[in-house]
Amino acid sequence: MNPKKTSKAKVRTNKIRKDDLVYVIAGKAKGKTGRVISVLPEKNRVVVEKLMMVKRHLKPSQQQQQGGIIEKEGTIHISNVMVKCGKCNNPTRVGFIRLENGEKARVCKKCKELIV
Ligand SMILES: [Zn+2]
Repeated sequence: MNPKKTSKAKVRTNKIRKDDLVYVIAGKAKGKTGRVISVLPEKNRVVVEKLMMVKRHLKPSQQQQQGGIIEKEGTIHISNVMVKCGKCNNPTRVGFIRLENGEKARVCKKCKELIV
């Protein structure tokens, strides 16, 4: 194994996962907290429940006779959110440690507890 190659190969991180509580640090929803309902890793964006609501206009179609306007969650760039630690209750940066069984786990940089 070439250490130079492996260190560069992995660009994608999974600091934020579905069902995490996140705190928004920038943008329209700044200062709000919400639960992640989906992660778009290829876009580095997340969808947070009830935050960044955007209006979508629907055209009447075969399935949907009425058409109209629906409200839907928009996406937030992951650099604009921080994971909220369930232990110390602070928005925090996420670190990684390797567990005894070889698995990688996330830890809170503030209180050093595991984020599950
Ligand atoms: Zn913590």
